[in-house]
Amino acid sequence: MAKITLDNLAHSYLPAPAGEDDWALKELNHVWGDGEAYALLGASGCGKSTLLNIISGLLHPSQGRILFNDADVTDHPTAARNIAQVFQFPVVYDTMTVRDNLAFPLRNRGAEAGYVARRVQEIAAMIGMEEVLDRKARGLTADAKQKISLGRGMVREDVNALLFDEPLTVIDPHMKWELRTQLKALHHEFGHTMIYVTHDQTEALTFADKVVVMHEGRVVQVGTPEELFERPAHTFVGYFIGSPGMNLLDAEVSGEVARVGGHEVPLGAAYEAPGGRVQIGVRPEFVTLGGEGLPVTVTRVEDVGRHRIVRLDFEGTALNALLPEEAPLPGDGVRARLEPGAVNVYSDDWRVSPASRSEEAA
Ligand code: ADP
Ligand code: MG
Repeated sequence: MAKITLDNLAHSYLPAPAGEDDWALKELNHVWGDGEAYALLGASGCGKSTLLNIISGLLHPSQGRILFNDADVTDHPTAARNIAQVFQFPVVYDTMTVRDNLAFPLRNRGAEAGYVARRVQEIAAMIGMEEVLDRKARGLTADAKQKISLGRGMVREDVNALLFDEPLTVIDPHMKWELRTQLKALHHEFGHTMIYVTHDQTEALTFADKVVVMHEGRVVQVGTPEELFERPAHTFVGYFIGSPGMNLLDAEVSGEVARVGGHEVPLGAAYEAPGGRVQIGVRPEFVTLGGEGLPVTVTRVEDVGRHRIVRLDFEGTALNALLPEEAPLPGDGVRARLEPGAVNVYSDDWRVSPASRSEEAA
């Protein structure tokens, strides 16, 4: 197992990148802690696979270095990096049995036969394929083949890291949950450094202790699910995580007050007047409806299980509030109060740290 350091890493698929848009991966410095399980979360096309393939050595970065512990592996081929990688679509040997597919990475490294047999049995149990071990992979469903790919990724105990690139895409929803649970169990048992790529926030938040959020070729935040929820470092994190995502309002901020349109919104902390485009962000969970706050009109109410999403219009800007199912529906002339301690301030999309937190919010 290894700590993985990305040092001034950047990648462009173009031979002579010019502008920022030409870089699939913008310059990045990041350390993946030894034995930690990460989810790498971001929308399609943001650079997740590019990053993973650079770590595994399938892709050579245009710039920067990759270190495993303290060894520079930037120029090492994939085989020399001792990594297991599972892709979105199955990679199996059709003419081999399920058993031989699972055993392949172990035999390939000269593992002893008794150990191979035991380990294959364990993995087969994890992926629910004990019954079909002696069948040829050919003829199995895409779903079953992907489970074999996952099993092959998990079979070796001595890898530096396990990389999963949206591995559950072709798996049916029930089995998804089951396999994710197995991956977590595997992590607890062996403590591998794991990076699990997904574009699905639920998958990311339930899989990992730490979530790395990417947007347009950049890592915009690394944090626990709580941190991503409470203090989104970038407006994209606010918008991408949560359903619905964080509300954003253009504002002028000075001291402990934001001015939004002609209205004052108290903040839970004092800020030195930020520059650039200033916005305040507050999650729908922290918008309450009543007699104080911003004047809004209700445009729609949606029932979503235990909550209601109340869609609001504030002077032409859409705003969402999340209310408990049993809360009374707002009437005319209602106002939206933003919980001061839950309001974040953004300058050109990046969160601004407060100069100090107020007594009340502390
Ligand atoms: P993700 O895995 O997050 O969906 P990718 O890493 O696959 O994103 O892609 C990041 C960007 O790089 C996208 O704009 C994509 O079109 C581009 N890209 C990916 N692979 C290649 C390639 N082989 N050649 C050229 N551009 C590529
Ligand atoms: Mg991808």
